[in-house]
Amino acid sequence: MLTDNHGRKINYLRLAVTDRCNLRCFYCMPEDGINWLSRSELMTYEEMLRCCSMLVQMGVVKIRITGGEPFVRKDIMKLITNLSKLQDLDELTITTNGILTAPHVAELKALGVRSVNLSLDTLHPGRFFSITRRDEFANVMTTFDKLLKHDIEVKINAVVMDGKNIQDINPMVELTRHLPVSVRFIEEMPFNGNGHDYNGLKWDYLRILNEIKSTYPDIKKLDDPQYSTAYNYQIPGHKGKVGIIAAYSRTFCGTCNRIRITPDGELKTCLYDNGVLNIKDLMRQNIGDGDLKDILLNAFNKRPKDGWEAERRRTEKAGIHESMATIGG
Ligand code: SAM
Ligand code: SF4
Repeated sequence: MLTDNHGRKINYLRLAVTDRCNLRCFYCMPEDGINWLSRSELMTYEEMLRCCSMLVQMGVVKIRITGGEPFVRKDIMKLITNLSKLQDLDELTITTNGILTAPHVAELKALGVRSVNLSLDTLHPGRFFSITRRDEFANVMTTFDKLLKHDIEVKINAVVMDGKNIQDINPMVELTRHLPVSVRFIEEMPFNGNGHDYNGLKWDYLRILNEIKSTYPDIKKLDDPQYSTAYNYQIPGHKGKVGIIAAYSRTFCGTCNRIRITPDGELKTCLYDNGVLNIKDLMRQNIGDGDLKDILLNAFNKRPKDGWEAERRRTEKAGIHESMATIGG
């Protein structure tokens, strides 16, 4: 079992496979994109596989493929296929914007992917365009339908943005009436690649909950699964569930079981740190598995207590301004 210096279990890896994306979500990156990594800076699939299989040997049981948009990276299904064969990996999941995902849904199901997080901030095509700066709403909905038809669990991730999609909160909750989906509202974080000024959090989890209560006063709190980052709820009689993720308020750090690897191989032991070591660079210096494991264990033993401590420790004094596309969410 892998634990950190605060006694928290580490068993979940979020692997960002690219920083590139076919959307330009307002809260994630500027309209003209970010300084994309060059091909040589990206981890290769071989490096990712080596690293994942080591971490699985060390105690990781769940891997989420994320990005950037995972499906814009060439041959991503090859990596997913290889990861799906890792013994002792209990769960392989994906976070996607859904634009290029639909043609792969049957194969994902066959590979044992049981759950997919689909990012969708609005059910209104015009607002979708104004948030993502691309006219792709219909493709996302096609993926949504296809995931449901293939009986893959769908969790919808919606970032709540003042002045952008507040009117969508309750229509999205309404989706849970007839569909077995989890709709999760996420506090907006400052990781927008400086696409816009982040002037503090306007919609925290309590305000989001109050907005839902204004339409669904009988909403019930559910027990939260172990390691859940969401506060979970259900409207009585609805098939699906509602979640609220206090990503900025950071109320979940006490049970945080996750680590992240960025597309260029940076290990993050907290969402709010700016990388603690570079696994790709070590691999390219021909480090052996034993030494790499020791270095990783050492990093896990220096994990910050919470996201506030990680933020204080950042070497980059200018504050948090990278894009979420380089972190993976
Ligand atoms: N491109 C894929 C997608 O959008 O699903 C995967 C990568 S994306 C960075 C992962 C998640 O991070 C998405 O659900 C997205 O909504 C969320 N995200 C991005 N920027 C965010 C921000 N500034 N605050 C909160 N969540 C954010
Ligand atoms: Fe792309 Fe996902 Fe960032 Fe949107 S949130 S720009 S889909 S990486």
